[in-house]
Order: sequence, then C-alpha cells, then structure tokens
Amino acid sequence: MNADVIIVGAGPSGLCLARALSGQGLGITLIEKQSLQEISEPSFDGREIALTQESARLMKELGLWSNIEPHAISQLRDAKILNGHSNFSMNIPHQLGRHQELGWLISNHLIREAAFKSVQQANNEHHDITILTDQKVTNVSANNEIAVVNLEGGIELKAQLIIAADSRFSDTRRMMGIAAEMHDFGKNMLVCCMSHEKPHEHIAWEWFDYGQTLALLPMNPDPVTGEYRSSVVITVGSHEIKLLMEKSAEEFSQEVTKRFMSRLGIMRLISTRHSYPLVSVYPKNLVASRFATIGDAAVGMHPVTAHGFNFGLLGVNTLSREIIHAKQAGLDIGDTKLLLRYQRKHRAQTRPLFLITRLITDIYTKESHPAKLLRKLLIHAGENLRPLKRVIALSLSGSK
Ligand SMILES: Cc1cc2nc3c(=O)[nH]c(=O)nc-3n(C[C@H](O)[C@H](O)[C@H](O)COP(=O)(O)OP(=O)(O)OC[C@H]3O[C@@H](n4cnc5c(N)ncnc54)[C@H](O)[C@@H]3O)c2cc1C
Repeated sequence: MNADVIIVGAGPSGLCLARALSGQGLGITLIEKQSLQEISEPSFDGREIALTQESARLMKELGLWSNIEPHAISQLRDAKILNGHSNFSMNIPHQLGRHQELGWLISNHLIREAAFKSVQQANNEHHDITILTDQKVTNVSANNEIAVVNLEGGIELKAQLIIAADSRFSDTRRMMGIAAEMHDFGKNMLVCCMSHEKPHEHIAWEWFDYGQTLALLPMNPDPVTGEYRSSVVITVGSHEIKLLMEKSAEEFSQEVTKRFMSRLGIMRLISTRHSYPLVSVYPKNLVASRFATIGDAAVGMHPVTAHGFNFGLLGVNTLSREIIHAKQAGLDIGDTKLLLRYQRKHRAQTRPLFLITRLITDIYTKESHPAKLLRKLLIHAGENLRPLKRVIALSLSGSK
C-alpha cells in the first residue's frame, strides 16, 4: 500500500481535507496536475468567496484563517436583493442572524494559498502528507480490498480510499462510473475587482436585472489609496462576456458604471478580468467502492447563492470525522457503510439549497411580461416576510 488515503486535486477542498486528516496516523497522498508553484503561490482568479460563519469557524480550526492577512478578510454585514430597474430591494440585515455580520469575503487565491500553507504546517509537524504535483490521474479503480490510482507517467499507487477533489467536471468521478446531473445555464460569469465613488457599507448585492444578473461583494478599502472596492460579478451570455473582456479598461469601467446605473458613482476596473461558464453539477452518487467525492466534485453549485466552497468545507468536515473515527476505532477507513453515511449526511446538507438555487435562477432570469410581474411580486412579498428573510440570513451565515 502506498498510502492510506489518496486525494486527487489540491484545490481548496483537497488541501483542507489533507489538513483535516493529518496527525491521525494516516498516510495521505495528494495528487495535483498543476505545478508546485501554481498551488503554493496561486494567482488572482477574480473570485471573491463569500464565507458563512460556519466556514470561518472551520477555516480557523484547520489553521487557514490565521494564514490570511486580516485586511484581506472583509466583512459581509448585510445583503440586498434587487430586481429589474427598480430601486426597491429585499434586505437581509445581519440582525436576523446570530452575529455582527452575515459572513466574510476572502479572495479565492488567498484561500488556496492559506490552505497550502496549513498543509505544509501540518506536514512539518506530522510528516504524513506527500504532495505529487505535475501529475495527472489517468485512471482510478477499486474493489472490496484496495483502491488503485494510475498516473500519466505510468506510476501506479494503491490505497485504502481514494477521494476525488478534482473539480465539478471531475474525471475521476467519471472513471468510477458515477453519472452526474449537469445543468448548463448557457451563461458565463465575468468577475473582477473595481473601485467606486460611493461606499458599499459592507452590503452584498444580488441584482436580478433584465438581460443580466449583477452581484457586488464588498471588500475592505484599498490599503494604499483608501478607495472603496468591491468584487463585481456580471452574468450574461458568453458572446457578451467576450465583448466585455475585450474592452479597454476605460471602456469597461464606463460600461459597468452604466450597467450599475451609477448607483455606486463612477466605477473603475482595478484588477484582471476572469470568466467562468455557468454549469451546476450534482452527482447521482457521492461515493462508490473505496471512493468518495468532496468539494465541487461532490456538489457543483451555481455561485448565485455563494455556497460552493462553503459546502466544500462542510463535506471535508463530515468525511474527515467519519475517517478519523474509523481509524481511531481500528476499523476500515474505506468501509462502504462509512462512505454511505457521509453521502447521506452531505446530501442532506446540500441538496435542498442546490434545488432552491436552480428555482431562483429559473424564475429570476425569465423576462416575459408575466415573469417580470411574478419577480416583482416575490421581491415585495419577500421584503415583508420576516421568517423567509430569517431563513435566508441563517443560510448565508451557515447557522442551523
Ligand atoms: C465566479 C465564482 C464565484 C464563486 N463564489 C463563491 C462564493 O461566494 N462562495 C462559495 O462558497 N463558493 C463560491 N464559488 C465556488 C468555489 O470557488 C468552489 O466551490 C471551490 O473553488 C471548489 O474547490 P475544489 O477544491 O472543490 O475544486 P477546484 O478549485 O476546481 O480544484 C480542483 C483541483 O483539482 C485539480 N485536478 C483536476 N483534475 C485533476 C486530475 N485528473 N489529476 C490531478 N489533479 C486534477 C485541479 O488542477 C485543481 O487544482 C464560486 C465559484 C465561481 C466560479
């Protein structure tokens, strides 16, 4: 046996799982197709990740939080939902939750960097994690006794359990014959960082406008200039995204100021622009014989409800607890019953919001006259329905 656990993919979920399993007497091998430099010093990828209070707690437990500079952690105090060209909004104040803020915002590349550091810190102490970079997995297979991973260079590795953390388009999930329900929204998201004249007051916006969906995620002011900053997300068709990506920085800034109807004053592009296709994925099974999926490989969320990595951390927590418990009890860590327990728990904590997210995006991207009327009615009714707003606040903060 080359390892007890092989994790495929050193993205934030794979790294967090390796960190969570370290120090338990398990040999962990992490396989990543990118280079060591790409995973240890990841570059800015445009994503500002909204984190629940529960994710903040888990990131503290795993040692990631203290690896991130405090100024890079922004408060997501309140949220508001807008519809069409109206100024009316459904407001979700933090007072409906249990904290001073609904959640937090951190750039994805900083989360990845912090996760890599925390793996290194754990490994310096326990010497139980092997990271193989520049290695693409070409096949995985398993039977009742053993799980096998084949790498591009012809290397074969054996373990008790393989965990796929290799993105929503997981090749290893497919190699294990697990089908997935995939929904292509036919749209792309453009993400970038922009400064603006008016303060955001740490309020996140989700704006279901006509012909586009806009989101604004409040960041701390620029440490040098003091300018107000936000992460901007524009969801439109891929051709329109291409045109936006091709514009000069100045033209783009003018265009976004117009798209936001100057509600934040003049906006200015201050980062590179990145585009992502909008495809949500939910596998038919999260586990197979000596095989489990975590992170986006287990649940590929639509980012509108900002739960992809939050669910990734919940999965890491659930699965690592099961594995550690089995190890401590001297049981098989690849046992089918253990994996099925993880599947049941993780489905229960992710499937309802996955389905609700689909429903919200379906309703709020329809543009017929009756649909516009329904959208308006729902926003107005929602603003007056305190119990509904409380549910949204608790979901955003990850509270039960
Ligand atoms: C625009 C946008 C905004 C988002 N906003 C939020 C948010 O506000 N809140 C939130 O919680 N989530 C958000 N998310 C989701 C979040 O970014 C993802 O859930 C998270 O990054 C997934 O991490 P992961 O480790 O599961 O997968 P990934 O980050 O996709 O990492 C997978 C890793 O596996 C490696 N790999 C793939 N195939 C192989 C192979 N065959 N062999 C070896 N290695 C392989 C890849 O190189 C990569 O390093 C957002 C996503 C997008 C696109």
